Amino acid sequence: MLNIVIFGAPGSGKGTQSERIVAKYGINHISTGDVLRAEIKAGTELGQTAKGYIDQGQLLPDNLIIDILASTLDGLKESKGVIFDGFPRTIAQAEALKKMLAERNQTVSVMLDLDVPEDELMHRLILRGQQSGRADDNEETIRKRLTVYHSQTAPLIDWYKQEGLYAHINGLGELDVITSDICQAIDKAVK
Ligand code: AMP
Repeated sequence: MLNIVIFGAPGSGKGTQSERIVAKYGINHISTGDVLRAEIKAGTELGQTAKGYIDQGQLLPDNLIIDILASTLDGLKESKGVIFDGFPRTIAQAEALKKMLAERNQTVSVMLDLDVPEDELMHRLILRGQQSGRADDNEETIRKRLTVYHSQTAPLIDWYKQEGLYAHINGLGELDVITSDICQAIDKAVK
């Protein structure tokens, strides 16, 4: 089982690189952001709750998102592994993921930290907002999401370093070069 955590600030390229990793390694992709946007689109109660947090650039409460992740994971059949994109975002979520995988006799194989400078993140997210119309890709909400990233999510870098699972990836430059760096880090981790 290959369980990869793809990590990084909003706009660091997690979604784009996840698609490439899925194609290469034949694993499943769980993006908690995508799961929540699908709930909003379907007009569910969960979607309504999620929308309130997403539009404010805030994280959903840990217990709620952990439950969502657990049921998404349970829904996967005969999986060769998973790339977790946008989860965990807090230390409590990382601890929950570790426990959830341990209950399934699994572990996280590697955590890939896609490192991109702040001015480039702003630039990419504003552009994505213009192209995709994602409601939370406006300048005010982007700033809030980056603040939340620094205060609540970035501490996971040290947490995963302590777990011995951390891999730094330069997230700036050619997509193919980044993908190749990622594949090297994955192959090294599972060797
Ligand atoms: P993303 O598409 O990963 O950037 O997620 C969009 C939004 O969904 C975030 O700004 C949060 O409001 C919410 N969200 C996604 N994943 C999580 C998570 N692991 N914990 C809390 N909130 C999340």
